[in-house]
Amino acid sequence: MAEIPTYVIGGEITRFDERDTVFSREALVEGSPEEIEYHGRYPEKIEVDRRLARFIVSKMEGAPGTDDVAQGIYESQFIPSASLALPDMVDGVPSERRTEWSPREAKRKIKEFALFLGAGDVRIGPLRKEWVYSHRGSRPFFDTGYTNPPYFKGVPDRYQGAKYGEKIELDHKSAVSMAFPQSNEMIATGTSRAVDLETGNVYSRSVLASVQLARFIRALGYPARAHHLRNYCLLAVPVAVDSGIGELARSGYLVSRRFGANFRLATVTTDMPLEYDEPVDIGIQDFCEKCKKCAVNCPSGAIEKGKKTLVRGIWKWQIDPEACLLYWGKAGYTCSICQSVCPWTKPRTFFHRTVATIAVKMPWMRRALVFGDDLVYGARFRPRPLPRWLDDSED
Ligand code: SF4
Ligand code: SF4
Repeated sequence: MAEIPTYVIGGEITRFDERDTVFSREALVEGSPEEIEYHGRYPEKIEVDRRLARFIVSKMEGAPGTDDVAQGIYESQFIPSASLALPDMVDGVPSERRTEWSPREAKRKIKEFALFLGAGDVRIGPLRKEWVYSHRGSRPFFDTGYTNPPYFKGVPDRYQGAKYGEKIELDHKSAVSMAFPQSNEMIATGTSRAVDLETGNVYSRSVLASVQLARFIRALGYPARAHHLRNYCLLAVPVAVDSGIGELARSGYLVSRRFGANFRLATVTTDMPLEYDEPVDIGIQDFCEKCKKCAVNCPSGAIEKGKKTLVRGIWKWQIDPEACLLYWGKAGYTCSICQSVCPWTKPRTFFHRTVATIAVKMPWMRRALVFGDDLVYGARFRPRPLPRWLDDSED
């Protein structure tokens, strides 16, 4: 446990504009008002944004050479969850009847509920306004005909982020962060259809769980909004750091003691009175100084090998999301090499739990542990074979 999160604040924290994410930029349609406005402000990004779009266009339309199984995996795992992004799925009006639980009781029950829904870890913390996006950057796909009744009943009152470019003011006080672990075996295939399948499947479960949890809280009489892969209003990683899921690592991912770097996040923000968990200090800031394994193995060079820099008021290892997504576009699949090689991403055996305890409690052993990890698992990433049923060459 730690009294404060382990990120270091170096100045005023400025809020992040969702329009600047690579996933928002790759979705800009050439000639649309959004694209003209955005590239009017950032003409230097036009070329790279058109290249970024190749990944998602290839996924939506099937790139030349993409086989039907790979396409089916992508569509089955990433398209259905989009229906749970609609405003009336992530948000809504709370019930007029209020369930009165003490903050401690509410914390226990909300966490049990989230674990029942499939989360591997659940923690609750304050919602710092600095982590809420300043402006919306997702396409308003629900107001262009994709209404899909009976699920879409209209945009709820006070819904934040209904339009691209809209300012976001989310005033919820608390955040429930949920971690959904991925299979170590599947992501050890590196950049493959197995990674698309595992990532998409885990995200789908996290999307549904966050929508269900938010709806549960609203039914108890309190405002609650789900934030998931398909509809975020905030930066899920620092929110989860504040609640104690893990620490921000060199790779840009959160690293947790239980799941290493191999999990996905979903969040529910609310005004329900909840007791908070504490942030954690498991030594990741020091460990990442000594390790660099993700950076050395990243095929796109997107992970910083050197020191932290001051980014919007926080000292952090700045990753290059453009390089990362361009690599996905070139490879044709989601990449998970940095999550896989992280020495904290290990099976939850007695042996590995003991090693993790040493890493947390004995800082002077960390360099030796990094060396030991290279010795046992190899310093260089070697992809594991696909599961037999996913490998066409096995037929
Ligand atoms: S996902 Fe792959 S390309 Fe992107 S940062 Fe991680 S290792 Fe590098
Ligand atoms: S691989 Fe090493 S440097 Fe990268 S996040 Fe994991 S512990 Fe940190």
